[in-house]
Amino acid sequence: MSQVQNKISPYLSITQDVIGKDIDLKKIEYVQKTISEKIQNKKLENFEKDFKEIIINREKFFKFFNYIEMYKVSRMNEFDKIINYLHFRFKFSQASNKKKEFDFPPYILIEAVSACNLKCPMCFQIDKTFTRKPFMGLMKWDLFTKVVDEANQLGAGAITFGSRGEPLMHPKIGEMLKYVSEKENIFELKLNSNASFLTEKLCHEIFKHKVDTLVISADHYEKKTFEELRKGANFEKIVSNVKMLFNIRKNYYKDSGTEIRVSGVDYYKNLNRKKFQEFWSSMSDNVSATYAVERWDTYNNEKDERTLNPCSYLWDRMYIWFDGKCNPCDADYKSYLSYGDVKNNTIKDVWNGEKLKNHRSIHMAKKRSELIPCDRCGIDFN
Ligand code: SF4
Repeated sequence: MSQVQNKISPYLSITQDVIGKDIDLKKIEYVQKTISEKIQNKKLENFEKDFKEIIINREKFFKFFNYIEMYKVSRMNEFDKIINYLHFRFKFSQASNKKKEFDFPPYILIEAVSACNLKCPMCFQIDKTFTRKPFMGLMKWDLFTKVVDEANQLGAGAITFGSRGEPLMHPKIGEMLKYVSEKENIFELKLNSNASFLTEKLCHEIFKHKVDTLVISADHYEKKTFEELRKGANFEKIVSNVKMLFNIRKNYYKDSGTEIRVSGVDYYKNLNRKKFQEFWSSMSDNVSATYAVERWDTYNNEKDERTLNPCSYLWDRMYIWFDGKCNPCDADYKSYLSYGDVKNNTIKDVWNGEKLKNHRSIHMAKKRSELIPCDRCGIDFN
């Protein structure tokens, strides 16, 4: 069990006490045994050899899948869905770690809104050449449903609402969560927010529509520094919103699997991590802080000649901006690397286009210094 608890997934870092419930290991054992029998009886012929090997071998199975994956499985009832979910996680890992090319992105990040109500010093929202046309806008409902329908059909298993702006500023964000939650092939739903616009109604929608993870950006435990860093926010209001969220889950959704995570940026590199942890952990499940990535001004960063490793984002995810433009990441917030548009094309066509293939080849040849801003974003995958 401890082996399982200590493992984290690539983009959902979580530990046992995060959700506060035990994994039903007996169920996991049963699932592994049953799928394994199906494979041996040649009932699951369509899956890759490597995936089948992981499922059949108990030791490999428990080594490969991490806590959050086990937790998800322990809460699922339909057997076909469990297999599809595990297969999705396998594919994400192959894309991310082995740079395996799939003909659709395993993970999609949707930008409901590109604007933000705050102007934090470590964020590209203070770049005045960005906070104006053509970069600012809201995703239209038709484009949103097109993206989600295609993602579901393709089997892209995870969707995050986030990217460059504050998603809760979208007037239809509650309906958007509902729409994604009703799709059978989308297994993980994540929402990134600064918590300014949390209302009682929205809190209920988050739990009702089974958001897996809500990441709240908050950088301090003292009003003065918090408001300096989250410029435009009111500390008391944010704290009261996060408490409301936590209490609504406690009072109305006792069996909720939604993780509330507080994630901060230690901008001045002097944050008292212990106090930060103590403060926010009373109203969340998981608290973390990292140093700032100086990415708001990515394009004017100094060139980083030492970072040569290929960037996993070219294989494992697609960012879709509010207007349908597709990008590998939001470090490139002005879309120098954009490889297409899903307004008039399908996700699959854009993902399999020449431009992205070319970016991958450049990265594989350890020549990312030929691409702006890959040559200076500082994001490294060992
Ligand atoms: S800019 Fe950085 S994060 Fe974005 S694709 Fe290039 S290397 Fe990856």
